[in-house]
Amino acid sequence: MTRSNATAAERMVSFCQDLIRIPSPTGKEGALANRIIDEMKDLGYDEVRKDEAGNVIGTLRATDPSRPSLLFTAHMDQVSPGDLSRWEYDPFGGESADGWIHGRGASDTKGAIATQVHLPTALASHDLEHGDLHVAQVVVEEVAGLGSRILLDHLRPDYAIMGEATTNELSNGNRGRTLVRMRFPGESVHASISQRDQVALYRAASFLLGLADLPMKQGVMGCSHAVPTRGATNLLDDNVTPQSFDLSIDWRSVPGETPEEILERLASIMADGDEAWIPPFELSTYIGRTYQLEYAQPPYWIDPHDPFVVAAQQALSAYWKRDVPVQPWRFTTDCGLFTERGVPILGFSPCEAKYAHTPVDRVSIDLMIEAWDAYPALIEALSTLPSHRS
Ligand SMILES: [Zn+2]
Repeated sequence: MTRSNATAAERMVSFCQDLIRIPSPTGKEGALANRIIDEMKDLGYDEVRKDEAGNVIGTLRATDPSRPSLLFTAHMDQVSPGDLSRWEYDPFGGESADGWIHGRGASDTKGAIATQVHLPTALASHDLEHGDLHVAQVVVEEVAGLGSRILLDHLRPDYAIMGEATTNELSNGNRGRTLVRMRFPGESVHASISQRDQVALYRAASFLLGLADLPMKQGVMGCSHAVPTRGATNLLDDNVTPQSFDLSIDWRSVPGETPEEILERLASIMADGDEAWIPPFELSTYIGRTYQLEYAQPPYWIDPHDPFVVAAQQALSAYWKRDVPVQPWRFTTDCGLFTERGVPILGFSPCEAKYAHTPVDRVSIDLMIEAWDAYPALIEALSTLPSHRS
């Protein structure tokens, strides 16, 4: 690495520390967004803007407009640090130690934000022919992908790279997640005289035995998976049967499995009077707008032999002189929202899933520099792919 590259890498790393020092819980990403905008302006982006959801988008204009446009994206929101006594490092200290940057969100996805936002310095000593390059850092990923949904209303790149944790490997799929609420009716009667058919919990029990045996759909990434999570009654007394019993089902879907199909499958094991629905909910962004959403994140899949995946894999393998595996994520990401709207997307990030949402949240400085340093090789390869507009 040259001296100017080393200085640029140091600046990228200290930007990552800054990002961790600015708390950005879901719906409160405003201060972080402003910090990213300042950095993008300093780095010489041709255009820097915020959209109606509060997503931040920086654009480097095409050096050759016939080439495909590319998007690098990650999310600004971070989950709560939880029990502070379990942390060795201050979750909002952005401390650097032993080759790591520590803190909440380092691995999900502030480490990726720092490398992506510093794209201009990675490209500085290269003379590449590329289409428009967008870097978009979105709000509200941790709850139903609101930021990506709004982003895709106004930005449709030819190809996209998602910064969710891949340890500098490539990710090409993930199961979707649909939350289903259920209600089993009963009658509120004194426990001493209750009849079997009045007991909501017996109805729920017979449904649950059916759910445990319900064949799951086989997909390219294995089977879908459904499991009961939260259950509740509104009772205050232990000696009456509840009017109803409410249950949540967490359903991890495979490609081709829609929310409508999930509700039909559940209906096949429900009794008359049982209800199931996907609950709508409201979310407010830091901008102050409120949106109606449903708890349904689509699954994501791109064939590992797709030319986009092959181009990325070959470019990184050749640049690093090692194999770069392609495999699906275990967790749900916003990628399904992109493929649903016709934007091919691939996961590539220095962040590591094993640290995400834990009290040892951290990102490797070496992996960050490695990813950032490889962006020109990746962009050069992806710029040879066809543009959907041509
Ligand atoms: Zn994430």
